[in-house]
Amino acid sequence: MTTQSWKLTRRSWNGAVLTAFLCLGAIPGSASGAIQSRAMRSPFWHSGALLAAPLLACAISATPAPTRSPAAPAPGAAVLDPTERAITEAVDARNVDAIALLERIVNLNSGTMNLAGVRAVGDVLRGELDGLGFTTRWVDGAGFQRAGHLVAEHRGTGPKLLLIGHLDTVFEPSSPFQRFERLSETSARGPGVIDMKGGDVIIIHALKALKAAGALDALTITVVFDGDEEHPGDPVAQARRALVDAAAGAAAAIGFEDGSGDPHKANTARRGAGFWTLRSTGTPAHSSQIFRDDVGPGAIFEAARVLEAFRVQLAGQQYLTFSPGVALGGTALTLDAPHNQGTAAGKTNVVARDMVVQGDLRTVSPEQLAQVKAAMRDIVARPLPHSSSTIEFDDGYPPMAPTAGNTRLLALYDAVSRDLGMGEVTAVDPIKAGAADVSFVAGLVPMALDGIGLAGRDDHTDRETADLAMLPGLTKRAALLLHRLGSAASR
Ligand SMILES: [Zn+2]
Repeated sequence: MTTQSWKLTRRSWNGAVLTAFLCLGAIPGSASGAIQSRAMRSPFWHSGALLAAPLLACAISATPAPTRSPAAPAPGAAVLDPTERAITEAVDARNVDAIALLERIVNLNSGTMNLAGVRAVGDVLRGELDGLGFTTRWVDGAGFQRAGHLVAEHRGTGPKLLLIGHLDTVFEPSSPFQRFERLSETSARGPGVIDMKGGDVIIIHALKALKAAGALDALTITVVFDGDEEHPGDPVAQARRALVDAAAGAAAAIGFEDGSGDPHKANTARRGAGFWTLRSTGTPAHSSQIFRDDVGPGAIFEAARVLEAFRVQLAGQQYLTFSPGVALGGTALTLDAPHNQGTAAGKTNVVARDMVVQGDLRTVSPEQLAQVKAAMRDIVARPLPHSSSTIEFDDGYPPMAPTAGNTRLLALYDAVSRDLGMGEVTAVDPIKAGAADVSFVAGLVPMALDGIGLAGRDDHTDRETADLAMLPGLTKRAALLLHRLGSAASR
């Protein structure tokens, strides 16, 4: 997700249950317009057990910085202990294999709805994880109309760490963009090469390097590779149950999405993406009588009142956006949400009876979401004479709120990066970060971080390109982060 803020708007979540409408506004009156629908079911991520252990977060905050030589060594190996050096050397030794694995899985089409293809990618990664001593299982996706997910577990003595990847891409078999293409020594183009098969390879090869250095045994790790990140299954509560269950007791959740494309950035917060539907009604009458005491202003003015109050009272709040994407108003409306179509008919000499408006709602925390929903409901509840309004919300993808724990995890990752001589890593501005799978578990664990996958550009397009020169460095960063997290509690 190079520009994460538009990730959700570029998806197509059709065939869904609850809907919101974007992009193609239909003009109120005698008009009809195609509308795009998407859907997510109600929130469920708090339904799982809140079993995450805060102990690691405490341990990290008390963990001293790695010992540095007073001789002020050059950035890099001098600040790494022998095990850490062995891990980085193991990454370098396998970089050719890592690129080969990336090429292999990019060449397996795994558009979300190509269920066999998603499973084929899962089978490859499952073999890798089996070889590392993980216990692996496939979570069947028939119940939510998708391929399913790969879950792999490794039990050591350290705190449980949850690593998140996904197997699917936006490129279905019908896409002309199907093959891994090496552009140069340092770059390759291909479907999903950074979103996020590159991140998946980083997970696998970080674990391989840890194994080679004798540092894997101590780690307690659960890896979840979702099969439907790009087009989540329905109901989404069921589609994300395996991920939510895997977060139980985890000390940290780490997502390997491609992030901002800048290797000096990672995500400590992501805005959620929800939707709302406003329905307003008025009292039909001859238009010449509008505003009379017994007629009122009609449905369209009532809806306009609500929308303007939303804008005046709520626009400009930090990290909040809400956008009415489509509006239908008149005397007779049809709304065919699953097929992305609606019509409105009215007459210029009739006071409008109905108006429906649908839009999105993006917030940075559950608290902000609750506050904004309450404010919107309050506005809706004060109708103009002889009219009324109601609003329904679909919470969609939850926000990943910025927390002190997430900031601590970023600080640890930043320290790893500096110790590797790779420079600082700072937080992505949440306004630029759309929702991702990590958002479903961020509220369940003491610490979460995302966007530390393979850097590149132009994901979700046929120019999707990976910066292969970054692959070993990003793999080392991930491996050392896991190593330090896994041993932090014992330090
Ligand atoms: Zn992705």
